[in-house]
Amino acid sequence: MRDPTAFLKQEYDDLVRQEIDWRLKVLDGPSTPWCTVDGKKVLMFCSNNYLGLSNHPKLKEAAIEAVKTHGAGSGSVRPIAGNMDIHVELEKRLAKFKGADASLVYQTGFAANAGLIPQLAGQGDLIISDELNHGSIIDGVRLSHAERGVYKHGDTEDLARVLDNADRAEKPPRRILIITDGVFSMDGDIAPLDKVAKIGAEHGAMVYVDDAHGEGVLGEGGRGIVSHFKLSRSMVQVEMGTFSKAFGVVGGHVSGSKDLVSFAYNKSRTWLLSGSHPPAVVAACLAAVDVLEHEPQHVKRLWDNTARFKKAMKDMGFDIGRSETPITPVMVGESGKAKKLSARLYDLGVFALPIVYPMVAQGKARIRTIMNAALTNEDVDFAVNAFQKAGKELEII
Ligand code: PMP
Repeated sequence: MRDPTAFLKQEYDDLVRQEIDWRLKVLDGPSTPWCTVDGKKVLMFCSNNYLGLSNHPKLKEAAIEAVKTHGAGSGSVRPIAGNMDIHVELEKRLAKFKGADASLVYQTGFAANAGLIPQLAGQGDLIISDELNHGSIIDGVRLSHAERGVYKHGDTEDLARVLDNADRAEKPPRRILIITDGVFSMDGDIAPLDKVAKIGAEHGAMVYVDDAHGEGVLGEGGRGIVSHFKLSRSMVQVEMGTFSKAFGVVGGHVSGSKDLVSFAYNKSRTWLLSGSHPPAVVAACLAAVDVLEHEPQHVKRLWDNTARFKKAMKDMGFDIGRSETPITPVMVGESGKAKKLSARLYDLGVFALPIVYPMVAQGKARIRTIMNAALTNEDVDFAVNAFQKAGKELEII
């Protein structure tokens, strides 16, 4: 009889043959600058924990305390019996931090994009997306019944072209939604959100930014890309983000008007049908907002470390692409070479993973480094020396 599960092994073996399967590394203990990965002490150079908050004492204490006062789980989805006082408090604190009228917390950033985007635009509408937007946006768009348009990465002239075509169509779209990442996760460049918002306003389109990599990084005290460009809420109506990166915990969120939030929680299926965050997570997120408000030194330190690393890498002759943020890709080109560079860096005590096809285009393989505020100058120089040694050995510089 035919085995109905045979495809599982076949497809997995295929990935292994093409060397594009994930071989998971194991982190023993917390995500700290020096940590243990697969049993070896290494410098963490690829985590999204930009500000080192995942192991901050205030976050850990808040999580422990919340377990004592509120228990281990929430018991339900938010609309039924899982809406605790601390969930509501977190949303109020976040909205205040963001300078928005209201915020809504989702279980993850992925759940925010997959749950909200398909509700904002449907049949007869148009969603226009930057070609390098994150996979969770792409999936959110796929779940929508709207028409789809894509503009060239960061190219606002191309965005204007797509919008002009839509305006001239025999049956123009009922609503238009423009979506862009704030900081692009593979290249570390910043979206021209000021121009996107202006063009959006000219065409009566709604603008949605995914600021997963801009929060805690850009803007006043790490308030994100909307603050970075000093844009008004009437120009960027949906600001989405995540607690899983600079905030150091887990959870997605959306900020904007009160109307947006009431709409979002009544309509997003990922929010309505999935259990709410356990108290420890909510309390740690609250503590993270508090740390960002009261300890601005982390954001400053992140940028100082970033500048030190980028300068040293450029001086040595590495190609660091178009990065403008703490995400610094070290361009290598060929996938095999990027993998060799990552392996050699690990030998030398630096943990930074290769990003290869199909995650990036053929010939654009790289090591994606992500800076962390908790690194000392000596730590940054340690990484620079390792890159120099490995880069020379592999004839990259
Ligand atoms: N958007 C972007 C740009 C991201 O990089 C990520 C995380 N990889 C997400 C959304 C999803 O966020 P989360 O980890 O909270 O699901």
